Parts: sequence; C-alpha cells; structure tokens
Amino acid sequence: MKQLLFYTICALCTLACSTTKKQTSNPTTVSIQFNADSAYAFCAAQCNFGPRTMNSEAHELCGQWITQQFQQYGYQIELQKADLRGYDGTILKSTNIIAKSTKVQSPRILICAHWDSRPWADNDPDSANWRKPVMAANDGASGVAVMLELARLLQQNDSARVAVDFICFDAEDWGIPQWSNEVDGDSWALGAQYWSANCQKATAKSYQYGILLDMVGGQGAKFYREAFSMQYARSVVEKVWQAAGAAGYGSLFVNDSGGGVTDDHIPVNEKAGIPCIDIINYYPDCRQSSFGPTWHTVNDDMQHIDKNTLQAVGQTLVQLIFSEN
Ligand SMILES: [Zn+2]
Repeated sequence: MKQLLFYTICALCTLACSTTKKQTSNPTTVSIQFNADSAYAFCAAQCNFGPRTMNSEAHELCGQWITQQFQQYGYQIELQKADLRGYDGTILKSTNIIAKSTKVQSPRILICAHWDSRPWADNDPDSANWRKPVMAANDGASGVAVMLELARLLQQNDSARVAVDFICFDAEDWGIPQWSNEVDGDSWALGAQYWSANCQKATAKSYQYGILLDMVGGQGAKFYREAFSMQYARSVVEKVWQAAGAAGYGSLFVNDSGGGVTDDHIPVNEKAGIPCIDIINYYPDCRQSSFGPTWHTVNDDMQHIDKNTLQAVGQTLVQLIFSEN
C-alpha cells in the first residue's frame, strides 16, 4: 500500500467534528476473549512457509494452509482465481480466498486482509536489500492471523448476532517499487480490485460494512482514522473506535487522522459499493516510514511482531462483533 499526503485538511475536519459529536451510548464490555497467543501462532505459521510472493511455491502452499484453517473452523471456501497483470507485465497467479460463514441470518459483515508478501524490500535502509523479498509478518500475515483467530473464536461462541465473512485478498503488494522508473498507475491491490469488479450486487448488498486489516501486529503500532475510511464509511470508523474504547484499547486507536492510504478498501468502496474502513498502523514520528520502521524492509519478520498489538485489534473486533444486533 501507499501513503497519500493530504492529512492536514482531514485532521482539521476530525478535530472540528470531534468537538461537536458526543458519544451517546456506552456499550458494555464483551467478556469473550481474543487469544493473541493463537493469533501469533497463525502469523508464525504463515511466515514458516517463507515469503509468500506471487507465483512462488511458498505462496501456493500457504494458500492451501489458510484454506484448510478456515474449513476447520466451519467456513465454506470459495477460491477466486485469476491471472492478473502486474505493472511490469508479469502475469500474477492470483487467488482470493473467500471464507463464508454458514450462518444464513442477516446482517453480515466482511473482514478482509491481504495474504501475499511484497517481492521487494524497496524501503529497506540498505539498498543491497531492495530486490529481496519481504517476509511480511506484519504486512500480510498479521491481518490473516487475526481473521483466523476470529474464525476459530466464532465457531466456539455461537452467540454473535451477525454473520462474519472473511476474504484474504491476493496480489496487494506487487505495486511499483521505489527503484523503478515506471509511472505509478493502478499497480496495488490487484486482487481486491478483481473481487470488487466482479462482486455481484446481491453479495455487496448483503454486507452492512467491511473492515480491512493491514499491518495489525507491529511493535509500537497505533491506529489513526484513515482518510478514505472517513470519506466512505465514517460511521463504521466511529463504531470501531468506540468498540476499541469499550474493549480498553482507546490508547491505541487514536482519535486523529492518519492520512489517506491506497489499499484494498478503495476498490471495495468504489467498485463493490460496500462501505469499508482500513485499520492500518500509523507512526507519525517514524523517519523510516509512517507505516513504521519495518515496512517493506527485510525486518518485517516475527521478531518485530507484538502480541499486544494483535490483542488490541483482535479484542476490538470481538467487542464490535459480539455487541452488534
Ligand atoms: Zn505492503
């Protein structure tokens, strides 16, 4: 994903709105516990395949493993395969892994994350690493890990009044590398673009809203209100941030703007028409990147994953899911 720089206006807007809006309800804290140890293990299991770069064996094997996990938790799997063209002409053998809840009752919500690894560590401080693949423990595996733990937990606790579907989007991170001279086009989020363009109207309408998870396990991570999420799905942002507060993680979910990000939620909003937010880390004081020190570097590995971050995001989602009615 790629950061866009227009957060000054949005920050002002957020400030203005936060002074006029008061929270009307105080939702009670949900007692069901998200298990961060389990999510951490799901994250490590993906990394054990190696970097899951497009068209690699590790990618293929990890995709099979993710599919089996969701099936084990009672989910119906649809594999949406497509040959997608990367910015450099490479044909990317893409598979969106769609895990559907067997609960037929409405309403439904959608939670998604990308599962592919970036093939180039083009933001690494050492230029010798720029063409090496990224392990993508945070930028990929963490979002899928939180989704798998939620799927496991939803199977154990049948009391949620919403049905939760999950999508693991492929081919998110083949975007134009910083060392390339190519003009930046629509090179990111190719799997999500494909799913969104082919999404049936009835399917899109069945979702109340969507939540994208991207980089939800990093050390020292905080989550700010991403600008496109505020533009397309402001009420969802407010609901999720309120859930974070109720779950006890208000300090990690900051009530301020974190800029706009080109990510999988853009096509989900614009092409599929599902209001979808992006829960994505933001490090306003990090010189290496506002996505944090390990983003698109060879250091995006399990050594830099923090269970507390996984816990904060996971418990916030548990709070949200189990207080929906
Ligand atoms: Zn990335």
